[in-house]
Amino acid sequence: MKKLLNFVLVLMLAAMAAPMFTVGLAEDEDTEVFEPHVTAIETLPPPKISGSYDQETSLQVCIQGEVREMSLREYLTGVLAAEMPAGFPEEALKAQAVAARTYTLYKMALYQSAEQTPEVHQGAQLCDDPGHCEAFADLSVQADALWGERAALYQERIQQAIEATDGKILVYEGEPIAAVFCAAATTKTESAKDVWGTDLPYLVSVDSPGGEDCSRYQGTVTIDQEAFAAGVLEQYPQADFSEPPGTWFRDSHRTEAGSIIDVEVGGVRMAGSEVRKIAGLNSANFKVKVDGGDLVFTTLGYGHGVGMSQYGARYLALDGQTYDEILAHYYPGTQLRLEKSPA
Ligand SMILES: [Zn+2]
Repeated sequence: MKKLLNFVLVLMLAAMAAPMFTVGLAEDEDTEVFEPHVTAIETLPPPKISGSYDQETSLQVCIQGEVREMSLREYLTGVLAAEMPAGFPEEALKAQAVAARTYTLYKMALYQSAEQTPEVHQGAQLCDDPGHCEAFADLSVQADALWGERAALYQERIQQAIEATDGKILVYEGEPIAAVFCAAATTKTESAKDVWGTDLPYLVSVDSPGGEDCSRYQGTVTIDQEAFAAGVLEQYPQADFSEPPGTWFRDSHRTEAGSIIDVEVGGVRMAGSEVRKIAGLNSANFKVKVDGGDLVFTTLGYGHGVGMSQYGARYLALDGQTYDEILAHYYPGTQLRLEKSPA
């Protein structure tokens, strides 16, 4: 028998795209594909919206490497389809619509000039990488694959959530917020400061029920020790893995919510988000043990844990809360503002 060493490391997030997965939906007993939103946060000087917008406002989005022009309505429809199960309760979908609209405007404000636009965008204001902007599903070709015979119904539900919240965004001190969201926080969300080192007053840790309803709330990743060491060495050539694997992880710092802020790995201090990325973990809230030639990571939560937890929004909606209450809970200190009356 190999000696098992347990390490409890909790951590949080990273800017990595998580795999597509299937979620059981209690609300309508349905199952569908759902890709959670996981993003790094970019904050330049507080972005300012220039000009007004409505759902007919035209955007440029880089989708699978190709720049396309579409209306804000069309874009948000594709974002909601990709980011939240369409069978979720109506108030959760509306909260997601406001968060997605707000985050879209935040990004547009960040990238107002060509110099500010990241290279991967190819000149567009947004991209479809959920690790950078927001995931996007092109329903003109993907609706059936996503939802089968429920395609028409689900498309309708998403469009209703967008129409019902048209023009509404979340602001802090008058400007659109970085309304990031995640699939399933643990019992509390994480703060942007702990995860990305960026202190934002509206992205602080709050209570978050319902995360355990996500089918990926608990995860396990088994990875060959040498493969993991190689992944670390690629970024940190000075790391030393000559000692037994049970000594590789030391001195972790965790957030109040349980994720690892940073930990020493092979003598090098790394962010929990970096360990998450290298090992391909669902979250940075993890434990790791040595099992033979492998490292076995077990995780709690799905995503970076910052901002609105989608499963938390689902729980609160099923509990009778309205979308504005859900948003006020997850983005404290923000106001819901009607940017422009519906056309
Ligand atoms: Zn992007």
